[in-house]
Amino acid sequence: MYDDYRCPKCYSHLRVGDNIILSAKNDKGQRGLILLHPELGNYEVITHPEFKYEKGEMISFYCPVCHHSLDSSKHKNLAKIVMIDSEGKDFDIYFSKVAGEQSTLKMIGEHVEIFGKHSENYLDFFTLSQNY
Ligand SMILES: [Zn+2]
Repeated sequence: MYDDYRCPKCYSHLRVGDNIILSAKNDKGQRGLILLHPELGNYEVITHPEFKYEKGEMISFYCPVCHHSLDSSKHKNLAKIVMIDSEGKDFDIYFSKVAGEQSTLKMIGEHVEIFGKHSENYLDFFTLSQNY
């Protein structure tokens, strides 16, 4: 199975090979590229050694193509990108902007699938409007 990832704004491809490539800015205003693993729940991150951030630091993510902010409207700690699965279905993927926090949430219609040990921190923001 090969999942693609796209910018929610310009719909450009964010996945190149086995990396999701995002532009990022740390708390100190330094900018760099961050490569995320395309498998949800895998928190391997690749950056240039000169682009540093501390655990707990808030990272801002941007599309590397159109430079639009990937901030989500769900929660200030979450960024959003679009995933296209091998059947062509698209899903909203939310992930934590806090360095070291392992939270990824995948919206499937009204349902939420969670990945990472800290994801339940945000579950309330996704289930408030649900009646079951
Ligand atoms: Zn874009």
